[in-house]
Amino acid sequence: MKIQRLLIGYLWIEFVVFQTGFTQSFYKDSIMIRSIYDVALTQGTCYHHLYRLCKEAPARLSGSANAQKAVEITYEMLKAFKPDTVWLQPVMVPHWIRGDKAICYNVKNKKEKYNLIALGGSVGTPAGGINAEVIEVNGLEELEKLGEEKLRGKIVFYNRPMDRRIIDTFHSYGGCADQRVWGADEASKYGAVAVLVRSLTLAADDHPHTGVMLYNGENKIPGAAISTKDANHLSAQLKKGSVVLHLEMNCKNLPDVKSYNVIAELKGSEFPNEILLVGGHLDSWDNSEGAHDDGAGCVQSIEVISLFRQLNYQPKRTIRCVLFMNEENGSKGAREYADEALRKKENHLVAIESDRGGFTPRGFTVEGDDGKKEACMDALREWKHLFAPYLVHIFEYGGSGVDVSKLKGQGVALLGFIPDSQRYFDFHHASTDNFENVNKRELELGSATIASLIYLFDQYGMHHKEKELQLPD
Ligand SMILES: [Zn+2]
Repeated sequence: MKIQRLLIGYLWIEFVVFQTGFTQSFYKDSIMIRSIYDVALTQGTCYHHLYRLCKEAPARLSGSANAQKAVEITYEMLKAFKPDTVWLQPVMVPHWIRGDKAICYNVKNKKEKYNLIALGGSVGTPAGGINAEVIEVNGLEELEKLGEEKLRGKIVFYNRPMDRRIIDTFHSYGGCADQRVWGADEASKYGAVAVLVRSLTLAADDHPHTGVMLYNGENKIPGAAISTKDANHLSAQLKKGSVVLHLEMNCKNLPDVKSYNVIAELKGSEFPNEILLVGGHLDSWDNSEGAHDDGAGCVQSIEVISLFRQLNYQPKRTIRCVLFMNEENGSKGAREYADEALRKKENHLVAIESDRGGFTPRGFTVEGDDGKKEACMDALREWKHLFAPYLVHIFEYGGSGVDVSKLKGQGVALLGFIPDSQRYFDFHHASTDNFENVNKRELELGSATIASLIYLFDQYGMHHKEKELQLPD
């Protein structure tokens, strides 16, 4: 009986090892990844780092004093882990200020007020404000139909909502963001005097969400967002008859300011010239603590250094943590980083960005240059089962991140860390994006997931060598 049982046990192991292709490296890697998660969940530093970044340097919009403070704080945080190198990469960034006026009310009924937030980069209104009739549109496409005759002298109100049926909320966001970014520029071509944009969120609440807007044309008109509840209210008022709004804002652009990307590096012992980048962006909007966007991505990137240090892990390749400045309104930090990498002929193997909030990890998306993204996807497919115990299962082609995507063309596989997206746009660019709305455990799981993938790239590069290491007969 006993022998029979032993035999069955032995045959089962044989089956697992030889039939399913599990290998020595699978066991080694699964143990290492388990250790990474264990340390992240029991001795993690990222939540405390996020607290410091949010409370000591909230509202760290590029060019602001708090953005400079964020540079100094994160430089110190990284230095504490004694990486091989920590440095600041200088870069000139835009300096836009919101001012202290954001007034919006119905001229015929001054008690009917709208909670307004200027879009980043917007010009102010003329002193004393604007009084103009509002015209609602469902997106940029409607402008041409209406033409100058209907739009001249008006405030154009973009009210296309995010599509609730789309499960990945980033796709839903992508379907509406053009209203915010190009709405004013497009409307100005038809003689409009200002634009209001429905906030880009699925939540029905009173918080207006800011975000960048851009001008191409010479005729710059102001742009602002109102909350989804206010947008619904304004739309209802317009159905009853004409609405004339008073709009007043004193935001403005100041001359560019010197700022920095913050960078730290663990030097590789075998392939020091092969760089594995992990990063997020240090700047945030000025109306919140920038906790999910992108304090979370910064502290998770710092945590990769921290975890490897705590585990006494000596990387084979160079692991570089990059905290980019100015993602929100210019991407000057990412451009400077990519330009310098090109000048120095640096060899980035992969670049992973975390900029989708500090929520429960789901996986990674991959893009990049031909050959690289496919090789990366092959490796991910091979490693996928290592992430299954942590409920991380998305490994697919898709956008990476605004910052790392500037490395396109340099032969790099670009990855985006994908946390669950359902709640991100509740907070994105709103005054509610604060430390208290980040869950400690979810943030830590994200750090561990990113560090685990960096570990695998460090061990194998883009060559998933498991098959070569199969157990002998
Ligand atoms: Zn962001």
